[in-house]
Amino acid sequence: MKNRTPEEGLTALTDDAERNRLLAEMAEQSTDMISRHTPEDWRFIYVSPAVTHLLGYTVEEIVGISAYDLYHPDDVADFRLRAPTVNYDRGLYTHTYRFRCKDGHYTWLESTSRTIRDPETNGIREILVVSRDASHRIKADKANRRLARVLESTQDLVIFVNLDFTVSHLNEAARTAFELEHRDYSACPLSWFVTEKGFATLMDDGFPAARKTGSWRGELAMRSLNSIRIPVMLELLAHRSLHGDIEYFSLVAHDLTEKAAAEEQLKQYQADIDHASRLVTMGELASSLAHELNQPLSAMVNYLRGIERRFANNPTLSWDDVEVPITRSIRTALRAGEIIHRMMDFTRKQEPVIASLNLPELISEMIDFCENMAERLNVRIVFEPPSDVTAVRGDKIQLEQVLLNLIVNAIEASASADDEIVTTVRISVEPHDSGQLRVEVEDQGKGISEADMSRLFDRFFSTKETGLGMGLAISRSLVENLGGELWAENIAAGGARFSFTLNMTD
Ligand code: ADP
Repeated sequence: MKNRTPEEGLTALTDDAERNRLLAEMAEQSTDMISRHTPEDWRFIYVSPAVTHLLGYTVEEIVGISAYDLYHPDDVADFRLRAPTVNYDRGLYTHTYRFRCKDGHYTWLESTSRTIRDPETNGIREILVVSRDASHRIKADKANRRLARVLESTQDLVIFVNLDFTVSHLNEAARTAFELEHRDYSACPLSWFVTEKGFATLMDDGFPAARKTGSWRGELAMRSLNSIRIPVMLELLAHRSLHGDIEYFSLVAHDLTEKAAAEEQLKQYQADIDHASRLVTMGELASSLAHELNQPLSAMVNYLRGIERRFANNPTLSWDDVEVPITRSIRTALRAGEIIHRMMDFTRKQEPVIASLNLPELISEMIDFCENMAERLNVRIVFEPPSDVTAVRGDKIQLEQVLLNLIVNAIEASASADDEIVTTVRISVEPHDSGQLRVEVEDQGKGISEADMSRLFDRFFSTKETGLGMGLAISRSLVENLGGELWAENIAAGGARFSFTLNMTD
């Protein structure tokens, strides 16, 4: 005997009563809600017990009620529109709609309805409906749609990539950034939209890491079809199926173009301020430097006048007679030239050059530079260079700027108008943490008040009448850029100590 399908089995049952009993039993045990309705107003003729679990009503409560009374008002019109299809066309249809539960809230049901006709008259006898809870699916669909809207409208570039590294979907931001608005991008290789270097990074690091751990994050450059570079922060995700195989990848790229431009602008701005501040420091030193230049110039005039006088009295003079004043005036002219060179170097605008620098030599040069100012303000600068070789990494002009700021501040803080009172500014170089040196500049001034201490390194904080208040702020950022720290403290004996650290050259 050939195997029958369950339905054929049922139809084969000759005993109508037995058939109905079996059907009723299946309905009673089903977790789906099975119901029978009158064709006109969809009154419940029968409902399976699943109604209680699904909608909260007992079977007795709902039998006799029209389903129209329980549809969501917004769905009723839709229902009436579709009803003829159920009745007259195909006789079967599936519909998702809201239905009122006993507690008053609406839940989503997905129902398949079938018309049962009288075999003799072909008139509709009743409607048989199988319904199940669709609220989870509707919720998930809604969440997916919401997610899709977010992906579509975010400013970040979202790219879906197949396992063969071809693009399957781009959101609007990505289509715009890659200049693809009017082009079909499906199956374009991802490499079209990433710079060569960036693509190598993705292949060597990104994809292997995402395969292993599920995600990877890194900075790289993408590019548009017209080769416009787009620096991005990229998040790469591997998406797996329920069985654990990777199905596709998604890339969410945050465009850093504006950030890069802002950083460049900030760097430029910082460089301008550094330069302006050097000019101001030089301005503060100008009167002392003028004085310093004046000295060699008048010395030279003296030497030359001496030579002139000797020639006037004795025109037959030999080289031996004038050698000393001439070599001296050459030396003083060279010294004056050095001062001018230093001023020019210091005030020139130029890109920093990081190199190995002899720190004690740099300090001695800066002390020389400030010596005249110190003398004028009755300050003595003391520096005993350490015996070890002490080379640090840094840019010469930047370090000169830091040292000059601290030394000039220290001189100004301990200045005295009384020639009898000479104070000391002490500079020292000590080993700090491993691999670092610490420079200390101590003065014998009034020190720093508690209130000022917290604002000392703020831009434009100054207690001086003509102060710009940029020196310490700039010095700290220069030192930090070189990997060091700059801080201030008061000394118990009176006065302040400014210290900063620098990395030694390996
Ligand atoms: P400026 O010298 O133009 O005021 P700075 O940033 O170099 O700007 O210094 C800010 C402020 O810090 C100074 O106005 C002063 O009040 C304080 N300061 C700096 N160095 C010392 C110091 N050695 N002793 C006491 N106060 C100091």
